[in-house]
Amino acid sequence: MVLLTASVSTNSGLGPRPFLFFPPNPLERQTKSVDHRRALDQSWLADVRASLADDFAIQTARLRELTELNADTGDPGEAHTRDALLVATRQNIEQITGALSRISDGTYGACQKCPERIAAEWLAVLPHARFCVPCQGKQNR
Ligand SMILES: [Zn+2]
Repeated sequence: MVLLTASVSTNSGLGPRPFLFFPPNPLERQTKSVDHRRALDQSWLADVRASLADDFAIQTARLRELTELNADTGDPGEAHTRDALLVATRQNIEQITGALSRISDGTYGACQKCPERIAAEWLAVLPHARFCVPCQGKQNR
């Protein structure tokens, strides 16, 4: 709809264009690339959501397995490992749920500490990242 309006408005229908003292169509090109990026964002976000949902299913299954496992083998080492796995799995599920809810409320990819957006490369590594790389760095210090 927006594109249609834009192409109609640029067609004056008055023959040759008058000479202009600035490069042709800078705005038009910019609008197009923004639209393109937005379309990519949407499909990228759908991919992220799908992979988070997969991850959620895997982690929930693991949590159920760990909980249902009869851990009382009398081996304190094994019980310790199981507890550590339980904690890690619960934490994973929490992070995935957080990321999924940020996708649905539209705040996914925004740093929660500063007004910056989290780099896509960083989100590819850490899909449930809540902070941009510089803020994450400060957090870890
Ligand atoms: Zn930040």
